[in-house]
Amino acid sequence: MKPNPRILVAECMQEISSFNPMPSGYESFHMERGAQMLAQRGLNTSLGGALAVFEQTGLEPVLSIGARAGSGGLLSAAGWKRLSTEVLEAVATQARGGIDGVYFSLHGAMGADGELDPEGYLLAETRKMVGPDIPIVISLDLHGIMTDRMLRQINGVAIYHTYPHVDFASTGARAARILHRLVAEELRPVIARVVIPALVRGDELITKSGCYGELIREARRLELEGAAMSAGIMIGNPFTDVPELCTQVIVATSGDEAVAKNEALRLARELWPLRHRMQGKLVTLARSIAQASSITGPVIFTDAADATSSGATGDSNLILKGLLDAGYPKRVLAQIVDPAAACAAHKAGVGATITVGLGGALDPGRFSPMQVTAKVRLLSDGRARLETMKTGLDAGPTAVLEFDNFTVVVFSLTLSLFDRAMYYANGLDPQDFDLIVVKSPHTEHHMYDAWVDNNFNVDVPGATSANLKSLGHTICARPMYPLNDGVVFEPVATIYRS
Ligand SMILES: [Zn+2]
Repeated sequence: MKPNPRILVAECMQEISSFNPMPSGYESFHMERGAQMLAQRGLNTSLGGALAVFEQTGLEPVLSIGARAGSGGLLSAAGWKRLSTEVLEAVATQARGGIDGVYFSLHGAMGADGELDPEGYLLAETRKMVGPDIPIVISLDLHGIMTDRMLRQINGVAIYHTYPHVDFASTGARAARILHRLVAEELRPVIARVVIPALVRGDELITKSGCYGELIREARRLELEGAAMSAGIMIGNPFTDVPELCTQVIVATSGDEAVAKNEALRLARELWPLRHRMQGKLVTLARSIAQASSITGPVIFTDAADATSSGATGDSNLILKGLLDAGYPKRVLAQIVDPAAACAAHKAGVGATITVGLGGALDPGRFSPMQVTAKVRLLSDGRARLETMKTGLDAGPTAVLEFDNFTVVVFSLTLSLFDRAMYYANGLDPQDFDLIVVKSPHTEHHMYDAWVDNNFNVDVPGATSANLKSLGHTICARPMYPLNDGVVFEPVATIYRS
């Protein structure tokens, strides 16, 4: 290995729901240019983990550009044009200085108007710039959609192994170690891909406790024992309706095609019969409310249909309406995105009483505003840090409204709500309430499940409903379980050799 090989580092991450009517734009992205990317040093992010390994192993990071957006609707054509141009210009500028490898940190569930494989496009253009001999290694979320075009550009990949995700940094570190090997050794890696025509959801995907986790542990074992350079099972974001949306097994070896192929086929065959278990088990709103009323301890109502981290709008008020109409008497805590209501609260000031339409602001096809007369309890700038990754959150002007037995945190911007950060940042402790609405399919166990008496997966409409048949996919390949009946799976491994 030549001294201090130079590794071009780039990042472009977003996860979209095709069923969110609000398009994302360029302004949805937080951009870090050059040395600004070092802000992720020490953080639990893919880039943070990769940078640490580069330092330990004597690889010199050549920082180009990082673009990260919260989840949302399809990226607009103009937004994608500006974003992709900026990212590729930054990559081109750094590549011209001479590089020995590329690390591209991706999510994998992007989608843009006119480009339904944005990651594939970025990688193909990067490959054109750096030529065929420079190794490109990527990291991906297990909710990403790896495409054929992506696989034809890359020499290695590391995929998250945990859900709820906690292994951001270690995934970046694994990608960096793969890159280190590819730069140091003469290898011709092989990647095997097996596409499974199934979309999955539900509690069995929790890797600590669910059957998906048992398969992921097999993938991890292959990595730890050295049989595979990397192995993972990508389930895709079922709401990202793109041509190659699917579940897929990816196994990469340092050159052994038979091992890559056989292990990928084995894991895919093991997953297929489990697809029935890997579906959301939803409870009607009426039944959830009735049962919650008879439970003494705290409960959560999981509103996965309006999961902002999966790409929904966050303005669903259906659970609030249901609880109000049913006269649920105990203390309720909820969050909602509604810029006009937040603005009205900021104008009125703390202590004022306002009458506003709450919710139904962004996805009017599914939700309509509910009129409430509420007291403005607290106002904030909406800034916080995620509990897991310690990266910043920005909800814009934020208000805590109180009416009857309800406390609702109202945000101006759609943002990820898969932990308790925004409750804490606005002076609220979920443990002080009897019923908490959580707009995320799952959270880390200690956040809620460890101390509530029940977690109701409530069946309400939304852009990220686990009732996948309700969404109306039009683009992904068919037949696809559970969108179609009688889907047959004939496992085939496609081999990609560098
Ligand atoms: Zn994910």
